[in-house]
Amino acid sequence: MHSLTVLVLEDHPFQLMALHQMLNANGVFDVLTAESVEAACQTLSRRGRVDIAICDLQMDGTDGLALIRHLADNDLAAALIILSGAEPCVIDSVGELARQLGLNVLGCLQKPANSLVLLQLLRRYLDGEAIEPRLPQEPQYPQLLALSAAQLADCKAQWVVHYQPKVCFGGKLAGVEALVRWQHPTLGLLSPAQFFPVIERANLFDILSWHVLDQALALSAQHRLAKGRALPVAVNIEPKLLARSDFRQRITAALERHKVPASDLTLELVETQGSTLDNLQLEALLHLRILGCQLSIDDFGLGESNLQRLLELPFSELKLPSEFVRGMGQDGKKAAVVAGALIMARRMNLKVVVEGVESADDLLALKDLGRPVMQGYFIARPMPGAELCSWISARTGAGLESSCK
Ligand code: C2E
Ligand code: MG
Ligand code: MG
Repeated sequence: MHSLTVLVLEDHPFQLMALHQMLNANGVFDVLTAESVEAACQTLSRRGRVDIAICDLQMDGTDGLALIRHLADNDLAAALIILSGAEPCVIDSVGELARQLGLNVLGCLQKPANSLVLLQLLRRYLDGEAIEPRLPQEPQYPQLLALSAAQLADCKAQWVVHYQPKVCFGGKLAGVEALVRWQHPTLGLLSPAQFFPVIERANLFDILSWHVLDQALALSAQHRLAKGRALPVAVNIEPKLLARSDFRQRITAALERHKVPASDLTLELVETQGSTLDNLQLEALLHLRILGCQLSIDDFGLGESNLQRLLELPFSELKLPSEFVRGMGQDGKKAAVVAGALIMARRMNLKVVVEGVESADDLLALKDLGRPVMQGYFIARPMPGAELCSWISARTGAGLESSCK
């Protein structure tokens, strides 16, 4: 702890002193204190980036939000703890905003400060249990932007598919979700957020989607050869793809080519901006369901994945996004949203997959809420096909089922 530099913004002299002492007692001696946002900014301009900023919100004059914005805009703190007397929902919302601004929020605490909780957060910081870095919305790579559509399409072989397991509470594998990455020869492994804008601009989503579907069905078929039954796979599709006149024929042909039963393929309809579906797209979804495929509404509750879409379209599954699930063990509001969605899904006879299960706490919270199928880093991260096969083999008692009732 000795090497940590911590900045404390607290306008109440007694609370500032108490916090200072708690930090010293926990082995942190390089403590910078400030009683106003202005003083905190001056200290930062003198001393530079700190490890952790502990930030109060309510104070005379400029409030703590201004410091949070300053820290984010100028990358002046590796991590942030919010400590305030404001209502818990206000503190949590500030934490969410700070995350959106790209800060690593270690904790959102109500006053008074508690030495044990503080110690846990300092340890978490030292253990490197940080949030993931913000993913760029636009590609940072000029070399990708410079490629023509034809050159991009030539890179198809570098678009590799990783698979993330979905498991039932008893531990059985319910299936996998196919998630594409670009294994770039010089830039390394790129995530969808890093290269989708390039694909979108070059209008290559069709090519990418069929490529991923083909890989995923090949893996499912390979699994059938090894284990006697196909592996249920879920593939993400953009609503735009549904409008293609050959959509149904291509899905049918792909299933036949790989000899995978339609019931083992789930298509996850992903969210795109302003995408109300027209009749042609609705028809394509109905064809899919008649064929026997499963249809999932991805990231339910975010953006336009709303109740109306759920009412209008023939979904068989609902996926709850990480945003509601991650941290629900500690967050009553999130737990309430998940509980409500699960009750609704049950009454509508929909399967539910809960994404973003990142901790034992999240998992335990789900246990009390009806034990839905789970997907998340706590179970396994997305991995290449070969790794997935070893992962499946290594799991004891992981018999395969298409459903986990
Ligand atoms: P999605 O379909 O909702 O996929 C789940 C995302 O959450 C994946 O991000 C996955 O790696 C991530 N994830 C899994 N477990 C956890 C967890 O415990 N915590 C957190 N924080 N995240 C978790 P990824 O692979 O970066 O994909 C992002 C999105 O890109 C996908 O969201 C999907 O909308 C899109 N996408 C991925 N592959 C394809 C594809 O082949 N076609 C299309 N059209 N979209 C795709
Ligand atoms: Mg998905
Ligand atoms: Mg999702």
